[in-house]
Amino acid sequence: MDDRTFRNAMGKFATGVTVITAALNGEVRGMTANAFMSVSLDPKLILISIGEKAKMNEIIKQTGKFTVNILSEEQQDLSMLFAGQLKEKQNVTFDWVGDQPVLPNSLANILCDVYNTHVAGDHTLYIGKVTDIYMKDGDPLLFFEGKYRNLASHANAG
Ligand code: FAD
Ligand code: NAD
Repeated sequence: MDDRTFRNAMGKFATGVTVITAALNGEVRGMTANAFMSVSLDPKLILISIGEKAKMNEIIKQTGKFTVNILSEEQQDLSMLFAGQLKEKQNVTFDWVGDQPVLPNSLANILCDVYNTHVAGDHTLYIGKVTDIYMKDGDPLLFFEGKYRNLASHANAG
């Protein structure tokens, strides 16, 4: 099977969009990710999947911590920035909860300690134990068939 067929099929699964944030020696990195799921209620666990080439791997391995920031529909530019889809670099201001950076104005900031890792093909699965959560009201940024969407566009489309 070719890669495009696989990606097209996976793209049929509509998701939200997150930015994973982590910091090493006070320097913050962000990375856009839609491979995110809730795993367990007791204990409270979530899962993310990060490609082997992503710089984020090294930071999470060294710090053992990361935050999943669930994006609102107003944050598409941040998704594009942290996916390397914008030509121009931008300065982003982060908030801090202790030593963990979080993206302000996200629908949710889910702070995690690494609970377990598993290398799966060309990605590493990180199971995070949730240590803290912050939430805001708003509509989500969506990703479907390789394109950004929002709830309103589909409601209007009938
Ligand atoms: P880098 O290439 O180091 O950084 C990515 C970009 O963020 C760069 O342009 C960098 O300049 C910018 N950046 C980083 N930190 C800062 C900062 N502090 N201030 C300002 N700019 C900063 N990949 C996966 O592995 N798993 C997924 O689940 C996944 N889901 C995705 C979902 C969507 C909708 C999209 C568009 C992409 C997804 N990707 C996913 C791809 C992933 O986002 C990119 O491959 C990413 O750029 C690679 O991450 P990196 O750690 O190498 O980041
Ligand atoms: P796309 O058509 O590549 O993505 C559709 C779906 O395919 C994604 O939602 C994801 O489920 C899956 N997918 C895509 N690339 C993958 C990969 N390398 N490993 C595992 N699953 C993958 O959408 P696009 O707009 O062309 O994506 C933009 C960029 O972001 C591409 O370079 C893509 O590879 C990357 N991306 C990576 C992941 C991931 O690593 N899990 C997820 C989404 C997008």
